[in-house]
Amino acid sequence: MNRTNSPEYPAHHAVFSVTALAPRFPITHEVPAQALWILVSHQRVAIKDGDNPQIYLQAGPRPDIRSLCLIEYLGHRGEVPCYAAGLPDDTSLPEGWTLNGVRELYGRILDEDLANASFAARMIGSAETSRFCGRCGHETESVLSERSKRCPACGLVSYSRISPAIIVLIMRGDEILLARSPRFPEGMRSVIAGFAEPGETLEDAVRREVKEEVGISVKNIRYFASEPWPFPDSLMIGFVADYASGEIVIDNNEIVSAGWFKRDNLPMLPQQMSISRALIDYWINLKSGL
Ligand SMILES: [Zn+2]
Repeated sequence: MNRTNSPEYPAHHAVFSVTALAPRFPITHEVPAQALWILVSHQRVAIKDGDNPQIYLQAGPRPDIRSLCLIEYLGHRGEVPCYAAGLPDDTSLPEGWTLNGVRELYGRILDEDLANASFAARMIGSAETSRFCGRCGHETESVLSERSKRCPACGLVSYSRISPAIIVLIMRGDEILLARSPRFPEGMRSVIAGFAEPGETLEDAVRREVKEEVGISVKNIRYFASEPWPFPDSLMIGFVADYASGEIVIDNNEIVSAGWFKRDNLPMLPQQMSISRALIDYWINLKSGL
């Protein structure tokens, strides 16, 4: 395989991507009598545990739900509209329901439900930060024809914030570069990642982040896959690049150690549910590098 051309990447399964809820716009101000609810509090999602854990609370327009401070339409699940409800702090959950971090739900509920739970947490988080206009401070209202908020006083329309971040696998011969962030669990290493800055292309961001964090230059940057990473609002855009030049010099801030690793001496890797692991697994399975 010629690595300077984009190889055929295996389809990446992004577990946090939204696939199952089909939005129907315009929506109505009134919540329909029958709806599904995903209950969210502080980025945690309620589930009813058991043999068949549920994240959807089926309910009519109960007063205690209608009076919730935040309600966001997510989409239709079949013929039934599905909403996220942001619970006020003093609200008690229905009997048998508990709040869980989205990542804690991985493997406990269906991937489709995990994506929807993640989406619900993301939309409530976004609603919390867009309740008031960023320009004039007036309370905003939902636009019924799309996912946005509009300020009735000054007209400013705002969309959910999405923060693009690059993540890049760097290959050199039969090795890859793996680095350790102080935020990682003990012993774990991963690929280089960082947020894009205003005014730069994603390729610029790859070159800059790699240079800043580990001091080397890369070439042949090509797209791999992307994944929404809702903790809280990143969109991870994955790339593969080849080593070009330079010696590893770590920044000692974002990165505390970095090195080149062969397939037979890999350290502890990120968990399966991440694009970082998908990038590394892609390389592990590359036959040409053996
Ligand atoms: Zn305004």
